[in-house]
Amino acid sequence: MFKPLPSVPDHPALEREVLERWDEERTFERLREQNAGGRRFSFIDGPLTANNPMGVHHAWGRTLKDVFQRYNAARGHDERYQNGFDCQGLWVEVEVEKELGLNSKREIEEYGIAEFAQRCKERVARFVGVMTEQSKRLGMWMDWGNDYLTFSDTNIEYIWRFLKECRAREWLYKGHRSTQWCPRCGTSLSQHEQAGEENYRELEHPSLYVRFPLADREGESFVVWTTTPWTLPANVAAAVKPDAEYGLRDGGWRLAEEGGEYDNVVSGEDLVGLEYHAPFEDLPAQEGVPHRIIPWDEVALDEGTGIVHIAPGAGGDDFQLSRVHGLPVLAPIDESGRFLPGYGPFEGLSTDEAAEPIVAALEERGVLVEAGTIVHRYPICWRCKTPLVFRVVDDWFIRIEDLRQPLLDANDEVAWTPPNYKKRMDDWLRNMEDWNISRKRYFGLPLPFYPCECGELNVIGSRAELEERATGGLEQLQELHRPWIDAVPIRCSSCNEEVRRIPEVGDAWLDAGIVPLSTLGWESPERVPHGYGTGAAQGLTGADLPDHAYWEQWFPADWISESREQIRLWFYSISVMAMTMTGRLPYRSVLTYERVHDETGREMHKSTGNAIEANEAFERMGADIVRWQFCAQNPSQNINFGYGPAEEVKRRLLTLWNSACFLVTYANIAGWQAKWDGQPSSQHALDRWLVARTGQLVAESESAFERSSTPALTTAFESYVEDLSNWYIRRSRRRFWDGEPEALETLWWSLVQALRVVAPLMPFLADHLWRALVLDGPDSVHLAGWPEPAAADETLLDEMVAVRRVVELGRQARAQSGLKLRQPLRRLIVQGAEAARAQAGEIAEELSVKEVEFGPVEATELRVKPNLPLLGPKLGKELGPVRAKLEAGEFEELGDGRLRVDGHELSPEEVIVERRGKEGWAVAGEDGLTVALDLALDAELELEGHAREAIHQVNTMRKEAGLEITDRIALTLPPELAAHEEWIARETLASRVEPGGELQIEKA
Ligand SMILES: [Zn+2]
Ligand SMILES: [Zn+2]
Repeated sequence: MFKPLPSVPDHPALEREVLERWDEERTFERLREQNAGGRRFSFIDGPLTANNPMGVHHAWGRTLKDVFQRYNAARGHDERYQNGFDCQGLWVEVEVEKELGLNSKREIEEYGIAEFAQRCKERVARFVGVMTEQSKRLGMWMDWGNDYLTFSDTNIEYIWRFLKECRAREWLYKGHRSTQWCPRCGTSLSQHEQAGEENYRELEHPSLYVRFPLADREGESFVVWTTTPWTLPANVAAAVKPDAEYGLRDGGWRLAEEGGEYDNVVSGEDLVGLEYHAPFEDLPAQEGVPHRIIPWDEVALDEGTGIVHIAPGAGGDDFQLSRVHGLPVLAPIDESGRFLPGYGPFEGLSTDEAAEPIVAALEERGVLVEAGTIVHRYPICWRCKTPLVFRVVDDWFIRIEDLRQPLLDANDEVAWTPPNYKKRMDDWLRNMEDWNISRKRYFGLPLPFYPCECGELNVIGSRAELEERATGGLEQLQELHRPWIDAVPIRCSSCNEEVRRIPEVGDAWLDAGIVPLSTLGWESPERVPHGYGTGAAQGLTGADLPDHAYWEQWFPADWISESREQIRLWFYSISVMAMTMTGRLPYRSVLTYERVHDETGREMHKSTGNAIEANEAFERMGADIVRWQFCAQNPSQNINFGYGPAEEVKRRLLTLWNSACFLVTYANIAGWQAKWDGQPSSQHALDRWLVARTGQLVAESESAFERSSTPALTTAFESYVEDLSNWYIRRSRRRFWDGEPEALETLWWSLVQALRVVAPLMPFLADHLWRALVLDGPDSVHLAGWPEPAAADETLLDEMVAVRRVVELGRQARAQSGLKLRQPLRRLIVQGAEAARAQAGEIAEELSVKEVEFGPVEATELRVKPNLPLLGPKLGKELGPVRAKLEAGEFEELGDGRLRVDGHELSPEEVIVERRGKEGWAVAGEDGLTVALDLALDAELELEGHAREAIHQVNTMRKEAGLEITDRIALTLPPELAAHEEWIARETLASRVEPGGELQIEKA
């Protein structure tokens, strides 16, 4: 006996139950044991930052990772299942600052760097726990507890080694550059961190037109436009476009508009070299600074005045120009974006605070031409959302040029899904600038750079090397983090003097980028059990440090999957680092996906209240439903995720549930028992068809998995379930009522194979149903492997496709006729679906007709009209006569939908054909298939119609009376139906029939 299933699944409840069973029965561990030593499928996880609870946007990637790992496990592949957590860098620091109520670097230093590091580690540990539980709840099978954590000393040492290699290749340099700077975080940010569209906001800023009076020409000025008043005190030049025309109007030079009235018009070239008075030239910082006009081809002519104010210490292009023209660089602001001494009244003000006094001062000096505001797209800090400024600072860079071509060549070999993302990666690689790896922060990878006054740049490549060269401080070095590492000076390799580490920490993408080497034991001499959990990671993971032989086996990854923005982040950093160290990319194929929006298509934000927490989604929708939504989504488009779409998914999945319930019900009634190793052997056409259709599902799904296409999977599965339920079960009801073992066996076998196919996508529901249906086989669908049915019978599949098309059109024709389906008809004529001929019986029964004939449908009138957009241009003035002939029916059919009219041969596309039934016929047609129903009724057909109507009514009465489907009844039947008494009794389970007046039932 199968355990009866409730009529509707409670997804969250059954999922929790399945999770418990997996735990108790060690299902995952047994799967790993079962696959150990099998062909390897190597997957490398891109780390989540262990910093906050998971949002549903994390669940997309986590779902895909789990789906493909589960599929490969079903294929018997050996896998690593190592999860990763990102544990240090700006992400963690900013959240800990919020937690502690700190809001500047000064406050962190007052709090104490050691204490701060401790809080960071605590936060990471907390969220490692939270995210692990959430991921488990999603159904993600990973080797939990043996995760990699990027702040382990082992990971850090691997990065040091990479940096030392960069030093050896002379790729490492300290750049003095103007860079995008977050005044809140007090650090520069790199191109790859900031490149995303989400790192811009529409912001309102001042829009000022300011006069720069000429030094030698009384009454003449240059008019410049700026949206950053704070940069004016650092002005050293103004730039014109040499080949543009400038005109003098109201005493001010500006771009000359065509037709404008000017006192004088000259080319920009003529203005170059002129000197002017800068608005704040009296500030101490400006002492001795000349101010003159310089040429610049990039001056924008579509906004402003065509004259650009240049402050090399406060702008990216400005700084470049200072190099070309030997301009002085005035750096007006400090780390926190406040004016430095030397800027008089502005000293100590932030760039925002300074705007007002600057405008006032300009006005007072009589150089403000016009003041307004502008709303424009402006960069904000990717981490804390503070608007960025430019500062000139020293940062450490990795020269990337030598890697560009090797990376491009290697990317050519990578299989990207969706395929167009390969080009996006190429674009990134073509445009990437040198990698800014230094951050002026605290809890991050300590850059192992010890520059010496003698000119030597000492770079330490390992902890052992540090210990060997240290001059002291080792006793307090609890881990490779600040402040402890800062207290360990070393001896310069060149002059033997003591040198100290630079204070900077590393870009967090170094931490995640080294993972394909550090977690797989690249060049590690021996396997160290639990050897990965060093330094800050001690006690948080039991991961081993493998040896090099292991790395050889698992590198590169066969498959990785992250969101599209990781092209410029994780994909980029792992590529650069692995290419540098091994000359190879760390992955062979990639699946990427876009962003999660709410169900109305808006971005999800906590602040707008439309964000959905992962836990809430799991508990309100069910994790399977979350997973299904993500899997059904085309990964190259944003998903509209939410409760509405979840209901829709639930509704569709209910068909599978109902089919399983149906089987359980009738198998139990018949006392039928399933045999795990049984193969359906029925010769019944519908059974053979369902077996073939199941084989087709397996083949389609396999192909979809191999192409990393989850939407193809959900589509294939939903269409299969629709066939199973709305064709196979629907057409076989009678056989189930009769408890036919062949039908039960076929349905059972098919459902069980379908569960194996769909288990990677919705592991809970599949396993729950598996346990309900499989009583003597593997105790979990996840231990059952991938199904291997015999090759599908293609002929049979084609036949049934044709049958279903005929039935579909037959239903349309019936709907037009206005006759109920319960009213049998004499005849259906089918033209154009020869393959359906072998299954004519199915068609007859389904459409309730006595005969199905295959042949030409003559019961129609053909109405043909010209398809004007095509035929108009082709026929020109001959269109009129052709149209008239078509209307009059004066044409010849040539087959394949071609027609001859008035000497012209017309293709099927060039005409619009409509078939209508003649009187007494209902006709429907589509794509070369036409069916015609003979609507003529006779007494015999009418009586049969009444009998069917009666059966339907009795069965409704049975339901209303609350009878079980096996209960027998006594039936009172109107006398006119006596001829069909036996049939009606059989269909309604009547053990006794009494002639009488009204239709009545009674429980027997
Ligand atoms: Zn910031
Ligand atoms: Zn030295």
